[in-house]
Amino acid sequence: MNSGFPAGRVDLNELRAGPVEWSGTLPAEPGAWGLEELGSVDEPLLEYRAEAGGRGSVRVAGRLTAMLKLACRRCLDEIEWPMEVDFDFRFDPAVQEWEEEGGVFTLDPNAASLDLVRPLREEWVLGMPDYPVCQEGCRGLCSVCGADLNESNCGCTRQPGDDRWAVLKQLVSDGQPEAARPDNDD
Ligand SMILES: [Zn+2]
Ligand SMILES: [Zn+2]
Repeated sequence: MNSGFPAGRVDLNELRAGPVEWSGTLPAEPGAWGLEELGSVDEPLLEYRAEAGGRGSVRVAGRLTAMLKLACRRCLDEIEWPMEVDFDFRFDPAVQEWEEEGGVFTLDPNAASLDLVRPLREEWVLGMPDYPVCQEGCRGLCSVCGADLNESNCGCTRQPGDDRWAVLKQLVSDGQPEAARPDNDD
């Protein structure tokens, strides 16, 4: 439960005196957030306003912004990708853990603080791009030698199948890259 991560926690005692506003950066190291698979991150910025609601519930609304370092899905080049996620959470002791959905979370009525790491992490995952590319026309890597085809044409004779797919990719021109992506059976 305890993340050891004060920047991601709301002090519920402080909240009794009135709404709490907080803004600051979060540590970039992945440990507390379990962000290993989400790409390295330069100190995300978190801003929120927390206020007590009815019957022991708490509302926390705000924004999370971060610069993500992702790999281009075609050429594997590093991309800097700005992420911005607006969130509006309600933590409610009347909600059971299995009833959590759509930004509504359970809340231990005896808790002294509220942990934002898990809900924010969910928003984070939802806010990430499905198919990041370095540029619309990225040509990807040679399927034979692995050369970056954006930088040079390696001169390899690639499988006719690959060439056909390359032409098709051009025609589709990145409209629906997911749908146009060929299966690599090599
Ligand atoms: Zn690329
Ligand atoms: Zn090649």
